[in-house]
Amino acid sequence: MKDSILDAIGTPLVRLTAPEGATIAAKLEGFNPAGSAKDRPAREMVLAAERAGEIQPGDQLVEATSGNTGIGLALTAAARGYDLTIVMPASMSTERKQLLRAYGADLELVDAGMETANQVADRVAADTGAFRVGQFENPANPRAHYRTTAEEILDQVEGREIDALVAGVGTGGTITGTATRLREAHPEMSVVAVEPEANAVLSTGESGDDDFQGMGPGFVSDNLDRELIDTVETVAVDAAEAETRRLAREEGVLVGQSSGAAALAATRTAERIADPSLDCPDVSFDADAVGDPDAIADGGDGPDDCPLVVTILPDTGERYLSAGVFD
Ligand code: PMP
Repeated sequence: MKDSILDAIGTPLVRLTAPEGATIAAKLEGFNPAGSAKDRPAREMVLAAERAGEIQPGDQLVEATSGNTGIGLALTAAARGYDLTIVMPASMSTERKQLLRAYGADLELVDAGMETANQVADRVAADTGAFRVGQFENPANPRAHYRTTAEEILDQVEGREIDALVAGVGTGGTITGTATRLREAHPEMSVVAVEPEANAVLSTGESGDDDFQGMGPGFVSDNLDRELIDTVETVAVDAAEAETRRLAREEGVLVGQSSGAAALAATRTAERIADPSLDCPDVSFDADAVGDPDAIADGGDGPDDCPLVVTILPDTGERYLSAGVFD
């Protein structure tokens, strides 16, 4: 038994269909208690501030977020007894707003993007004395992924070599924290960042408008360590959504838009590094292992020589039903 919902943070690593001669493993972050990777930095940022004596339960927190960080913070705030104000672009999905309210957060919507939301959150902090969480510069954001996401992956690959890590970039916390830790164990691993084609700040130096939720903030975040990145893949929103639908319908993996983008970039990466002469395992399911506590249902036959691409799928698809992604 876990003593708190905050102890339930953690997710499975699951094989996806991959190009011949390669393996793709997806970290399904939608399995976290509040449905996204952001449960990790939310918990870490609040606990770090508590440890530093900056906040204590009962205090007010404020944050600008495209949704998932807010929902993760709302989970932590509810579980630890904080008041929470979230500033968010009004364009974010209905489910995000409903979820924040369900966890008891106060919501302030702005008719603009993340940069404006950040400015409004700064103002709320200055006016009310609320603690500004600051996911774009708070070092506890990448540290959460260093300490948890990456550690789980190292455990879950069961000794296999990791050849590439593919992850979308918002604050940069996921890719920075995860890549830093994985590189310690796999120094040759290549790191692939994913960003929206229409808002490709890392590739082109220019921001633009896109319909991605959570990925591509339109600027380079302090929490992104660009030195770690070997390749930047851009993905168009239509292609990402088509892949998101394919994952749901053909693989039973219900994830969000940016996950579709990451999965597509993971497939491109796997095609680049595949060794077609190898007979790599495919997605498989051992029906006899169901209900047998002694059967190892998640390891296959142990390490093989297939090039391995690990990708991070940041959130659950249930967050995008009203946005028409699955229509
Ligand atoms: N995809 C989604 C759906 C997200 O909510 C986020 C976080 N904003 C990201 C990708 C990017 O993650 P990070 O902020 O850690 O770079």
